[in-house]
Amino acid sequence: MVGENLKTVMKDLGDGVRLVAVSKYHPVEELQEAYDAGQRIFGESQVKELTAKESVLPKDIEWHFIGHLQTNKVKYIAPFVSLIHAVDTVRLLREIDRQGAKVMRRISCLLQVHVAQEETKFGFTPDELYAMLDEGEWRQMEHVQIAGIMCMATNTDDNEQIRREFHLVRRIFDEVKETYFVGDNGFCELSMGMSHDYLIAMEEGSTLIRVGSKIFGDRDYSQKPGVS
Ligand SMILES: *Cc1c(COP(=O)(O)O)cnc(C)c1O
Repeated sequence: MVGENLKTVMKDLGDGVRLVAVSKYHPVEELQEAYDAGQRIFGESQVKELTAKESVLPKDIEWHFIGHLQTNKVKYIAPFVSLIHAVDTVRLLREIDRQGAKVMRRISCLLQVHVAQEETKFGFTPDELYAMLDEGEWRQMEHVQIAGIMCMATNTDDNEQIRREFHLVRRIFDEVKETYFVGDNGFCELSMGMSHDYLIAMEEGSTLIRVGSKIFGDRDYSQKPGVS
């Protein structure tokens, strides 16, 4: 079933859009099924769960951390993580730089922008984002590559609201690229879109969609951390 669901989502992928299969709370057997169907990018939101799965699954998987990352846990994923999607403070960026130096890697990160009308308040507001980029400490971080922007839209059935939010973030992405990342081809990713809104996200310019339940079904939170 996982393989079939995956193929359905893959058929929807637009040009230049990559799929992050969000496998949080699902057991490794289901990730292996997706792997066998050709999927190589997986997204997890808990550090323990990610490191446990990474240690048993094939080494050519690209692991993305998509959740809220605590500063004191960066060290556990720094050796192997391919992309950290939701950097929401300079302090976190600084720690990723520090841990990247220790393992001699330049770690790719996305800056999370908060535009949704939501309880969860993670992410820079657009004003905070520009202030952080103007301040410029990030320019000295040799072990961090700021690779783009990530966002979550409001969890609503109002597709026009979702579209407005994605559209706004796309404009922010373009402006940040033109203002701060001229000539830096590493700034190229716009991570937006989940199971219920990825079609809208792609229309608004997403390059990475993060799809979980549409591939793996409902999450069983009692099974945490999903490694048997
Ligand atoms: C869980 C999660 C997703 C996937 O959500 P689905 O609705 O299951 O597709 C995407 N992005 C983030 C940040 C998540 O935490």
